[in-house]
Amino acid sequence: MNPCQACGYERKDFDVRCPECGNFYPTLADLIAEDEANEEKHSFRGRCKRIINADDSKQALKDELNEIKAGLSKKGIFTIFLIIAFVFALTLSVL
Ligand SMILES: [Zn+2]
Repeated sequence: MNPCQACGYERKDFDVRCPECGNFYPTLADLIAEDEANEEKHSFRGRCKRIINADDSKQALKDELNEIKAGLSKKGIFTIFLIIAFVFALTLSVL
């Protein structure tokens, strides 16, 4: 298990609280939520949500695009390709 974040004490299986310093361990639910939040932040859905919720969506869109460009990998290019292909296929099926 993960050691205590505050003092590094080795965590026993189902302890919720560190016996050394009294710090509460993050629960599995916390870790999952954190992971999901992280994933959401970098997902297409998360980006869209941020752009929509931003006060200045034009600026937000610019920021997101810059961030995508900066961290563009093969996987990122593939994702963008998939999105474009999907939109294209959708347009064709409507026409
Ligand atoms: Zn501790």
